Amino acid sequence: MSELIRKNASELVELLKSREISSVELTQAHLDRTAAVDGDVHSYLHVGPEAALAAAAEVDRRRAAGEALHALAGLPIAVKDNLTTTDAPTTSGSKILEGWVPQYDATVVKKLRAAGMPILGKTNLDEFAMGSSTEFSAFGPSRNPWDLERIPGGSGGGSSSVVASFQAPLAIGSDTGGSIRYPAFVTGTVGTKPTYGAVSRYGLIALASSLDQIGPVARNVLDAALLQDVIAGHDPHDSTSLPESLGSMADAAKKLDVKGLRVGVIKQLSGEGFQPGVSARFNESLELLKNAGAEIVEVDCPSFEYAIAAYYLILPAEASSNLAKFDSVRFGLRVTPEGTPTIERVMAATREAGFGPEVKRRIILGTYALSSGSYDAFYGSAQKVRTLIQRDFDAAFAKADVLVSPTAPNTAFKLGEKLDDPLAMYLNDIATIPANLAGIPGMSIPNGVAEDTNLPSGIQILAPARGDARLYQVGAALEHMHEEIWGKRMIDFAPELEVRG
Ligand code: GLN
Repeated sequence: MSELIRKNASELVELLKSREISSVELTQAHLDRTAAVDGDVHSYLHVGPEAALAAAAEVDRRRAAGEALHALAGLPIAVKDNLTTTDAPTTSGSKILEGWVPQYDATVVKKLRAAGMPILGKTNLDEFAMGSSTEFSAFGPSRNPWDLERIPGGSGGGSSSVVASFQAPLAIGSDTGGSIRYPAFVTGTVGTKPTYGAVSRYGLIALASSLDQIGPVARNVLDAALLQDVIAGHDPHDSTSLPESLGSMADAAKKLDVKGLRVGVIKQLSGEGFQPGVSARFNESLELLKNAGAEIVEVDCPSFEYAIAAYYLILPAEASSNLAKFDSVRFGLRVTPEGTPTIERVMAATREAGFGPEVKRRIILGTYALSSGSYDAFYGSAQKVRTLIQRDFDAAFAKADVLVSPTAPNTAFKLGEKLDDPLAMYLNDIATIPANLAGIPGMSIPNGVAEDTNLPSGIQILAPARGDARLYQVGAALEHMHEEIWGKRMIDFAPELEVRG
């Protein structure tokens, strides 16, 4: 494997700047890696070598001409396939959108292009980002590079595995209930869900609009920060986009200091119910933070007990409404049933054939929760719980600058293990969902291999809304402490994949 593809994004941009390497060379090295390993990992639904190399060649030309370029110009990236791209199909992991090429680029995609970052391809995901394992993708699951029999997390398992298997230095994910952070946790990578509104959702195929947020996936904290700095910012196309800038995440990631910082351990998200190996790594991380001068306090968030229940009413309710537009009329799949093809029958046949089981389950649940007889009892109650969770966070952040927990209860499970048990699948998100319900930012960073399963573990860091910089400051400081002890990066513990082709 080319040495280049193992490097951090922050190192690669220096090599590009000094013209020791060209963007075409770097992009090609990643495409070669994909040709060698993606038959096994299946991170991508679509690879676009021509478009990526053309974008790379354009950056190289501009650099040679002495033009001023963006700091990340020439660095290739992979994008989750629920963001619209005009030069590649966008399926959101669903048969109902198979082959659809959008008429416009998502704002985030526009920003990547404007920064001169070649887009390598579109990554796999659970259908419409519903799931925790990518097994609900209509195009087959992605696999975890640490163990190909195991899931790479979901819904953004394509974006986590593409970075963990060195097919891309960076990737874009989306996180509605943990789909950036959970995949990061199980693949030994870094993922951030920014503050709601920090990154424009324009062109993101909506799952649940009040919870969705786009964010970076990377192999270390500084790289994630560099990417968040590219994609963040106000967008008039997204009415929920924040008007103000949240500052430079890269600057925050360079401080490497946690002295005097109050770190709150969420009582409800540790101890019982968490795998012993995951808890052991979590406690070690706490010890490191304490030794570096942070003050560890315990915080109580009693309403978190109801977070999953509230989420699985609010999300299906919003999703059932968002997915109503896939009606066979305007774009995507159209199935004409036998007999008289009335509009209702065509719609029904299309949705029957186009949507998978998890999507149907949630549409039914959401439609029921919003129906006039049950609206108050279900949707109304869930919204009240949402407020209680926000209040728990407010109280916790009065006592602590950041909150921490293990990112998830268990390390990566085997493909197929939870497929027939929706509730078991939903429980993976117990620690990540509260942040989406409250709109606050969260990050998962690796903190070693859990000894009981020999698989990656990770710690989640949460900050108040607009406090994204704190995540990068604490995350980078902790990562630095880990790397000092290990003598290498977390990703360097991952097994080499067998190269074919
Ligand atoms: N696993 C969660 C779900 O199935 C989270 C999904 C997401 O963040 N997109 O809803």
